[in-house]
Amino acid sequence: MKQVAAGKSIVHNFIILQVVRSAGAGLDGPAGSRTLAHQFWLGYTEVAVTIITTLDLHWTGKPRCIATALLRSDDFTALVDPGPGSTLATLREQLAAHRSRVADLSAILLTHIHLDHAGATGELVRENPSLRVYVHRRGAPHMVDPAKLLSSAERLYRQDMQPLFGDFLPVPEANLQVLEGGETISVGARELKVLYTPGHASHHVTYYEPTERVAFVGDTAGICIEGNRFILPATPPPDISLELWYASLEAIGQLVPRRLFLTHFGFSDQAERHLTAYRGRLAQWGNLSAEIMARGNDETESVRNFARAVAAEAAEFLTPDELSLYVFNGALQLSWRGLERYHRKHADSQRGQIQAGS
Ligand SMILES: [Zn+2]
Repeated sequence: MKQVAAGKSIVHNFIILQVVRSAGAGLDGPAGSRTLAHQFWLGYTEVAVTIITTLDLHWTGKPRCIATALLRSDDFTALVDPGPGSTLATLREQLAAHRSRVADLSAILLTHIHLDHAGATGELVRENPSLRVYVHRRGAPHMVDPAKLLSSAERLYRQDMQPLFGDFLPVPEANLQVLEGGETISVGARELKVLYTPGHASHHVTYYEPTERVAFVGDTAGICIEGNRFILPATPPPDISLELWYASLEAIGQLVPRRLFLTHFGFSDQAERHLTAYRGRLAQWGNLSAEIMARGNDETESVRNFARAVAAEAAEFLTPDELSLYVFNGALQLSWRGLERYHRKHADSQRGQIQAGS
C-alpha cells in the first residue's frame, strides 16, 4: 500500500488518496444496499474513492424514517447525520453490515443539531474520541452544552422525548469543527463543499459532493420517502424562516445537483424538479397556515384544519399507509407551531418597522 497524495482539510490532515491493489473487492455493501461505488483504473492499480451508502436507522422500529449516509473511501469513513441516541444499536448493526465500526469512523457531518439528526453524536465521540464533528457555528454551542436544546425539545415532546430520541450526550469542544458555509472538506479522494442553508433551522448546512453531484440536504428539501413524489415540508419551531428557506433552495439549485440525499428518507433522483416542487409546497404551506390563523380558532382546531388540508393534498399521491408514515415523520402539530411562530414573528417585526417609521 502506498500513499500517493495527502490533502489538508480545514482542520486536520487526512490522507486523501491511496493506491490499493485490488481494493474494490471489499467495498460494495451487502446485496440490495444502495451503494454507489466508483473506482478508477490506473494501469494495474485501482484507486477506490468515495462511496455513498444509505443506512436505515429504523427509527421507533419503522423502516424509511431516518436515513444516515455512510461515506467511505479507503481510509476515511464519515457519517452524515448519525441520527438520534435511540437508534444507536441499529446504527452499530448497520455499520457492521457494511463491514464498519464506530471505531473506524473519521468524521460526523451534521446538517443541523435537531435530535433526530445529531442526538447520537456525543455517544459516538465517547466511543471514538478521535472523531471530528462538523457543525455550523450557531449549532456548535448546543453540541457542547445541550441543556437548552434538550429543555426546549422536552417542552415539545414531553413524555415521548426519551423513547423517541434516547440520550443526547455533550460533545467535547475539541472534537468540533465549526462551519460557516463556504468551506471545503476533504473526504478521502473527494471533497465536500459546505453551503449554509438556513430556513428549516438557523444552523442548517448542506454538504455537496461535486463528482457524484449529490447534495446532502438534511431537512432543507423536506420529507420525501425514496421512490415517492410527494414532498411534505417539516417546519418545526423555533426558527423557521420561509424567506431564508427559499434562498437556500436557490443556492442548492445553483450547484446543479443530480441527486439529493434527504434524511427523511433517502435519495431523490430528480434534484431540479424536487427543489422547484418543494419551493412551491413551502409557499403553499405559508399561505395555508396564514389563512387558518386568520380564522382565529384555538390551537387544537387550527391543527385539525391544517392536518385535514395536508391529508387532502397528500391523498392524491399516497396510499393511507404511506400517508401515515409521512405524517409520523413530519409531526404536523410541530410544523403548525413552527409556521404559527414564523407568522407571528413576521407580524411583530412589520409592526415594529411601521412604528419605527412613524
Ligand atoms: Zn429531521
